[in-house]
Amino acid sequence: MTNPTSETAAPSIPVVDLKSLPKVSLHDHLDGGLRPQTIIDLAAEVGHELPATDAEELRAWFQESANSGSLERYLETFDHTIAVMQTHDALVRVAREFVEDLAEDGVVYGEVRWAPEQHLTAGLTLDEVVEAVQEGLEEGMDLVDEAGGYIEVGQLVTAMRHADRGSEIAQLAVRHRDNGVVGFDIAGAENGFLPSRFTEAFTYLAENNFPATVHAGEAAGLESIQDALVHGRALRLGHGVRIAEDIHLDVQEEDGRDVGTVTLGDLAQWVRDRQIPLELCPSSNLQTGAIAQFGTTISEHPIDLLYQLGFNVTVNTDNRLMSGVTLTGEFGLLVETFGYGLDTVLEFTLNAVHASFLPIESREKLADFIIEHYEDVMEDMEEFEDSEEFEAFDESDLDDTDQG
Ligand SMILES: [Zn+2]
Repeated sequence: MTNPTSETAAPSIPVVDLKSLPKVSLHDHLDGGLRPQTIIDLAAEVGHELPATDAEELRAWFQESANSGSLERYLETFDHTIAVMQTHDALVRVAREFVEDLAEDGVVYGEVRWAPEQHLTAGLTLDEVVEAVQEGLEEGMDLVDEAGGYIEVGQLVTAMRHADRGSEIAQLAVRHRDNGVVGFDIAGAENGFLPSRFTEAFTYLAENNFPATVHAGEAAGLESIQDALVHGRALRLGHGVRIAEDIHLDVQEEDGRDVGTVTLGDLAQWVRDRQIPLELCPSSNLQTGAIAQFGTTISEHPIDLLYQLGFNVTVNTDNRLMSGVTLTGEFGLLVETFGYGLDTVLEFTLNAVHASFLPIESREKLADFIIEHYEDVMEDMEEFEDSEEFEAFDESDLDDTDQG
């Protein structure tokens, strides 16, 4: 862990371009990451009415709605994105652009989640929509490759928890396991819709050795996390941030100093000791009120507590359009707020590599690639620190540095 006030940490800020660092994105919704202009184009094709028809105005509308504090307004944003993602060509385009946008942000491996059951209103079947998204993802990967970049993106097929299609969607996911689908997820209304509603689906997945991540510990608390692990057999927790509610801090004054003890409940202990990955999404967690018990600013987000206590933390975006974020931006926010150094950014990234649903050989290759890149950057930093430029480095430069 880097001490933000140490002499070696400070100069890293002006020389490290977070965007250029290879990143891994595990929690990113397809219907939450469209380009505003694409929504406008697709809406015109199908005659869907939007709250704005100028790309920048529409972008602002999405972000305002997500920030409004009203769940109703937040959910309304998805009505619009999902409405324009009902045809084969629309799904191909959205998936292709999703890959291009991740690559542009420096993501080298991503898992994109979406719910096929929400894309059937124009008459496509579940299999057809999965194939259309796969076509778009592959087109995107090819385009990035042709442009000299590199990215791989797999699908996480999601079932909506308020609906009753869990088993059907689990079978769909397994059916496409050799054609781009790498895992299963449940999303939507967490409160009142425990994973145990889908026990049959999760048993089917387990019997087919197919991995699941489960949204839990976002809109609901510990009971939901426990249920995701027991009935959902979750290998990762979508957000899982409310596991921090099972961590008890007791700070007392001793000899004029604050001395604290930390006690973990059985569930937090299990999640930490089993190293169950947490797909944390800092900005989204603030907007949705997932961390309301802890505070209303990013500095009060329990991500740092979880990290310091040894939880398996990964950093994600959730809905890039609605939250107006990128993975680079989220890392920048954490670096700025908690003073993390490059070593911590690397640690979070490698956590994501190992938490991904890739086979172990691919994970190891990906980890080697990322570490090599970081070593080059760190070498450059050392050279910089030995340089005259560094001698002339002024603390005030820090304030002008845009990390986003
Ligand atoms: Zn999510």
